[in-house]
Amino acid sequence: MNAIRSDFPLLQTTLNEYPLVYLDNAATTQKPKVVLDTLYQFYAQEYASVGRGLYALAENATARYEAARATAAAFIGAQPQDIVFTSGSTHGMNMLAHGWGNAHIKAGDEIILAEWEHHSTLLPWQHLAAEKKAKIVYIPVFPDGALDYASYEELLNARTKVVVISHVSNVFGTTIAIERIAQQAKAVGAHFFLDAAQSVPHGMVNVQDITVDALVFSGHKMCGPTGIGVLYLNGALQKSMPAYHLGGGMVYEASFTSSSWRPAPHRFEAGTPPFVQAIGLAAAMTYLTQKVNFKQMRAQEAELCSRLIKGLALMPRAQVHGPRTQLQQQGHLVSFSLSGVPAHDAAALLGAHGICVRAGNLCAQPLAKKLGLEGLIRASFYIYNTADDVDLLLQGIEEVLRVL
Ligand code: PLP
Repeated sequence: MNAIRSDFPLLQTTLNEYPLVYLDNAATTQKPKVVLDTLYQFYAQEYASVGRGLYALAENATARYEAARATAAAFIGAQPQDIVFTSGSTHGMNMLAHGWGNAHIKAGDEIILAEWEHHSTLLPWQHLAAEKKAKIVYIPVFPDGALDYASYEELLNARTKVVVISHVSNVFGTTIAIERIAQQAKAVGAHFFLDAAQSVPHGMVNVQDITVDALVFSGHKMCGPTGIGVLYLNGALQKSMPAYHLGGGMVYEASFTSSSWRPAPHRFEAGTPPFVQAIGLAAAMTYLTQKVNFKQMRAQEAELCSRLIKGLALMPRAQVHGPRTQLQQQGHLVSFSLSGVPAHDAAALLGAHGICVRAGNLCAQPLAKKLGLEGLIRASFYIYNTADDVDLLLQGIEEVLRVL
């Protein structure tokens, strides 16, 4: 574990003169030195645009970019042509809603989302549904963070065109029974799109093992740079989804009156792509693959969830919101509240002691309003977190409860 922590320069620093306890990994993760070095090295010694140049620097940049695509594909068990680089999960989800959705959703169609969806899923599909006069229906979520599978079955019908859901909820940490949901969607002829922002970073996704038409994730949540993400499209979707934005790089041939486009994935990557970020993401994925046994990593994260949940259970004013049993077996985040203490005040006081957690509605306002959970505090773990981090958080919470 120390070997891993020492790879992350920022984890060696202090915050307000306290050792940094970084527990906001579901928002974004820290970067290992190898990723920082890769970015510096590429900008300093190899930089040129991809795709067009016929000089050695440009050819090298193109080769590195396409190699990054192959690395990203291998990370989720896909083929390189299935990988579209985006700026992140939000961008990928907008491409699905406005690209695929715009072409295939019609008035009266139904789109199924879970109530816990992140705003990055909620807003694009809401916007599309309003434009198309389609209807969004929501799978209810119970107050303990469990999904209402029985209601989901009842919601599915011949009008259901697509089911879009988070693999792991960023609010509760719940992992869904993905194949069950996918198969039931397929049984009514619906497409199945996955928000894998909270699962791919933990090595939970191999597209060979799941039935999924498309999925999105973000590089910055898995040790990669900001501004890079992946939209995975299976072969059928690549053909049935029109490009959502148009421009250079995707063109096969253009005239003053019309143009034809290159096949996927380049058809979906108009403009100069975020190629340095993609190379940085590939460095992050290679780092993770070489350094981490994902099964062990998930067991260790669940152990940290368990330690936190048990510690909070000893504090009468603390309440965990989420599927405790599942989190202790396979979780990587714990959301909780402290009675009588506004979440933002608690997070600010913890921050003053060097402890970084998230507070608020966790980008899921409708769910927070429905369940009265506006004041959640979330601690989320990644490869470098230790039992000491949890203990320092628990001590910090005790201090919060004394002071506030
Ligand atoms: N989906 C989930 C479940 C998330 O947790 C997040 C980020 O917190 C996103 C989507 C959006 O990711 P990004 O901001 O990188 O586009």
